[in-house]
This record gives sequence, C-alpha cells and structure tokens, in this order.
Amino acid sequence: MITRFAPSLTGYLHLGHVLHMLYVWGVAKSGGGKVICRIEDHDLSRRRPEYETTILENMEWLGFVPDLGMSASGAAEASEFRQSDCGECYERMLGLLSEQGLVYGCECSRKQIQKERSGADGELCYSGTCSAKGLPLIGNTVRLRVPVGEVVFRDLRLGECRQHPKQQCGDFSLRDRTGQWTYQFACVCDDIRQGVDLVIRGEDILASTARQIQLFQMLGHSAPDYFHHPLICDDRGDKLSKRQRSESISQLRDAGISAEEILGRAAYAGGLASDSASLSLSAALILVADRLR
Ligand code: GLU
Repeated sequence: MITRFAPSLTGYLHLGHVLHMLYVWGVAKSGGGKVICRIEDHDLSRRRPEYETTILENMEWLGFVPDLGMSASGAAEASEFRQSDCGECYERMLGLLSEQGLVYGCECSRKQIQKERSGADGELCYSGTCSAKGLPLIGNTVRLRVPVGEVVFRDLRLGECRQHPKQQCGDFSLRDRTGQWTYQFACVCDDIRQGVDLVIRGEDILASTARQIQLFQMLGHSAPDYFHHPLICDDRGDKLSKRQRSESISQLRDAGISAEEILGRAAYAGGLASDSASLSLSAALILVADRLR
C-alpha cells in the first residue's frame, strides 16, 4: 500500500493538517503501507516557496516521518516529489491525452463561463463552447473532454459514491492559459508515477474524486482506492473557528505547546478522542486504526 501526504504551499500547517496526517499515517501504518510526502505547488502564481521548509520541519517535529519523498533535510534540492520541478512530466502526460484527441484549447474567460451556467454545487460548469474550434493548446486553457455519465466508486469509509463530472464541472481544465498546471491534473499524474494505490484525504475534496478517476482511465491506468476522512470540528461539532483555523502549528509551537498537546487537540477536534488530553503519536495513530475495525 502506498499513500501520500500532499500539502500545498498556500498556507502553513494548522490543526486540520494534523488530523489529516493522523489519518494518512494511521491508515497506512495499520495496513503495513508506505507514506510519500509530496509538495503540491503546481500553481507557480499562488505558491509561496518559503512555506516549504517550515511545513516539512513542523511535520517531522510532530513525528510524521515519510517513507519516501520530501523531507526537511532535502528541501533545497530539486525533486520529483515537488510539483514545480515536474513540468516536463506533466507535459509528457498531456501529450498522451492530446495524441488521442482527448483535450482541446479554450479561449473563454472566467466571466464568460460564469455567465453560461454553474454546476450542481454552484461550481463553475463548462459547457464546451470551444470543444470543436481546434484552438492551439499553447496560450489557451487546456480542457479535458470529460466523458458523459455517472461515475460510481466505493470510498473505504463512506461506501458507494455517485458523481457526475460532466454535469458538475463539465470539461475541466488541466492547464491554464498562462501555463499553470491544475490540481486535478498534477495530482493524478503524480499518483500514477508515484504508484499511489490508496488516496487518503479530507471529505472536502470528495467532489474531485470522480473527475480524477476519469483522468486515470483516460491516461490508461486504474484508479487507486479512496478514503475520505471527516474534517475537524470544534466542541459543538461546527467547523473550526476562523481564529483556530488560522492558528498555525508554528505559532502553537512558538507559544510553547508540545507536539503531544497538539496531537491531542487534533484528535479531539477530529472526533477521534473523547477529550483533548496530550497524546503520543503512537497512541494517536492507534485511535485511527481503531476506527478502521
Ligand atoms: N494539496 C491538496 C491539499 O493540500 C491535497 C489534495 C489531495 O490529497 O488530493 O488540500
């Protein structure tokens, strides 16, 4: 079993990430699996490279040591586990789709698409205006010809899930007009080349799953298994407050709070523990493993 922890470089680690890491390491270790750490900084315009070392250091300070991929000590070197270093690979995989006529260039602006229609959850849904125009891929948004139809998959926690990408988001983009790779595409390319066979991530990303499964299939691969975990809640079962959400692990660490206290807080806020008492990492991981039984 190979799974991954894939932080973006758009913010520092917070309690939600700690709960996420508990699930990733907890599920992987209870099944004898390995954890890859990769940095998801595919969008060069949004990433903040200076976050990388802090994220990796805090991850390791909490005790989460990946089996493969990025680590605090290797942060300075180019790596196949950092998306901003992997443009050529994404280019190659885009070529595979392009050869089969599965992508097209699109010149529509966001405003135009907004006017057209939005998908089920208020998400922008592209109707395919440019799909037959034969526009070049370079200099235009590159869109996938999303197959029509429902995708049914079994989430290891949620059971059977049904999604309909063509209706939810339509022909979603793989690269924007300025050449930035999108999350959906970079993530699937990486999961393929890194041999990921179990994706563990928060429920907030559930809606991406069917479109990623379609991408796997169009690239000639079977999709991994999925486990979407619950998100962190406050004492009343509500989502974490803005203040708590924005409190980074670095800030808590600077305030003298120990790794065990942070693990305890994350386990409690995620509903894994009945109180917020300090926890060793191994004790916290057992709480996750217990959930799987
Ligand atoms: N980079 C994404 C995030 O930080 C992870 C998405 C995934 O696990 O597929 O939310």
